[in-house]
Amino acid sequence: MPPSFLHDLVGSMSQGADGNPTVAMIEAAFAHHGLRWRYINMEVAPEDLGDAVRGTRAMGFKGFNCSLPHKVAVIPHLDGLGESAALMGAVNCVVRREDRLIGENTDGKGFLTSLRSVADPAGQSVVMLGAGGAARAVAVELGLAGARRITVVNRSPRRGGELVDLLRSRLRIEAEFVPWTGDFAIPSSTGLVINATSIGLYDPDARLALDVSSLLPGMVVADVIGNPPRTRLIRDAEARGCRVLDGLGMLVNQGVVGVRYWTGIDPDAGVMRRALETALGL
Ligand code: NDP
Repeated sequence: MPPSFLHDLVGSMSQGADGNPTVAMIEAAFAHHGLRWRYINMEVAPEDLGDAVRGTRAMGFKGFNCSLPHKVAVIPHLDGLGESAALMGAVNCVVRREDRLIGENTDGKGFLTSLRSVADPAGQSVVMLGAGGAARAVAVELGLAGARRITVVNRSPRRGGELVDLLRSRLRIEAEFVPWTGDFAIPSSTGLVINATSIGLYDPDARLALDVSSLLPGMVVADVIGNPPRTRLIRDAEARGCRVLDGLGMLVNQGVVGVRYWTGIDPDAGVMRRALETALGL
């Protein structure tokens, strides 16, 4: 029997959702695996968020993604949180499990999937550039996966300090905050360097305040920026002999985790990446 339309619906709640390339990526996975599901964009104003979530319950949605400004505000409208979403205090993926809407955070999980293709997160000494939502998501997953130490380098001491407090108190890992003033030199004992700032988004030449000569062969250098994927940091790190992970991989892998949560299948990440690249015009 073909699945009914409403029971096979997932979506994305955001503001200014025009042309969300995630739609192409998720629907490519559904088509490739013969699932008659749909993933739709819903532009939801902050004051309508509660009604929108109740609407997904009423219409039998299997789940939905939510992006800024809804990642924190959605929590009171849900029935529970997954482990990392509870630690981060932010949700980007909601999954209907039986009749409960459970909030998950797949951003950090997507990053970890990318990382595991080149290195084991356990025991890593990490430099995290940035302390916003993406940094928080990635740092919490790294902590849960056994990273040894995370140095948070951020412009705003308040956000940097909050992330370090979270890592120390809830994940019990070594963490320190370094205020970002001038070009930061990566300590030679570092295994993993991550740009989790928004620097580089839509600007391939945007420069991080970083002493590039401190990047050493053997370090893994990752960027959360997915568009363009070949950021200045990724190009510099490659030229220095580092292994690199671009933000497009993270975006694809968070989509993979979401599709797995909603449908129970393991989608083909290659199909999803190609669809995303086409949608982004890459
Ligand atoms: P936030 O606004 O929460 O955080 C932005 C971070 O960037 C803060 O640490 C901020 O520092 C820092 N920053 C911004 N501009 C500068 C600057 N000029 N100099 C120094 N630091 C700066 O954003 P998010 O964390 O939600 O998103 C960050 C990026 O991650 C976005 O570009 C987004 O596209 C990307 N992202 C990618 C994902 C993927 O799957 N590839 C998933 C999620 C996000 P301060 O605290 O001092 O303001």
